[in-house]
Amino acid sequence: MRRLSITNKHYNLLGYNEKGLINALVYNVHRGPAFNTFEDWFDGRDRLVIQKLFDCDTRKTKVDWFKYGNKSKLKSYSEILIAIEETKEFKGRPIEEDLDFKENNRGIPIIQDDTITPLGTFKRMNSQGIITLHIDNLQIFFWTIIFELNCKRKYEFTKEKLEVLAKFCVNKTLFHEFFHYFTDVQSHITEKYFYNFHDEEALAVAFSRLLIGYEAKNNHPYISDFFELAYNYKKAGYKDWINYKSEEQFFLKLKDYICLNPDLIRKGVHFTPILEGLIYSIIEDPNVDIKII
Ligand SMILES: [Zn+2]
Repeated sequence: MRRLSITNKHYNLLGYNEKGLINALVYNVHRGPAFNTFEDWFDGRDRLVIQKLFDCDTRKTKVDWFKYGNKSKLKSYSEILIAIEETKEFKGRPIEEDLDFKENNRGIPIIQDDTITPLGTFKRMNSQGIITLHIDNLQIFFWTIIFELNCKRKYEFTKEKLEVLAKFCVNKTLFHEFFHYFTDVQSHITEKYFYNFHDEEALAVAFSRLLIGYEAKNNHPYISDFFELAYNYKKAGYKDWINYKSEEQFFLKLKDYICLNPDLIRKGVHFTPILEGLIYSIIEDPNVDIKII
């Protein structure tokens, strides 16, 4: 897949630059003077001292996140990946009564990924779409994967490695939500498109993984092991991303999902570059507001 990086344009939307977001996750620097940063979690050579944070034997976190200004209900990254709660989509949440959406709702929920502890959510375009990054949940998602990698897989982390992984963590979430934005735009382009929760989430995860994979082309074992844990979805819909993990599988499914006219394919037109172009043209300069809460 062609390279799509989160650019300065996207970071400007975030109100943080890239470094600012990484600092927020890894060092807790954005919460103001009332809360400590994580600087004392590292030794003089910038290596993480895991014993201060996590007991590998009892598997207990020694950190009281609340004292650091983190109000998340999340205890571990794995809660994001498993079905600890039914999503609102499954509970049959009615589509919001919003006149602007009535003519063109195609069954799309107003807010996607709207669970109790989301990493990110996407709110459909009214005038603008809104991507929300839930920084508290992201921070715990990120750090509990680090604990796991350190204890079980014996990786040692420096500030440098943590910053690399924190960037992937943010981008993983942004790419996922950008896919929802893409289909939101699609619903205005393609008459036949209709939302399907399972396909939508499976494709959103696959899209995120494909783009992250490209960025991590020269990756190291600690990076691929991080991804293995971060994408180990067990939730309905999300977990099926595995069926679309190659570019070929992804585009084959996407052409059906957004109802590309089969005539085009029968006539021998290569649909992959068309879909690729469509995705990039929509996502490269998105009409979204990105919020961090
Ligand atoms: Zn989603």
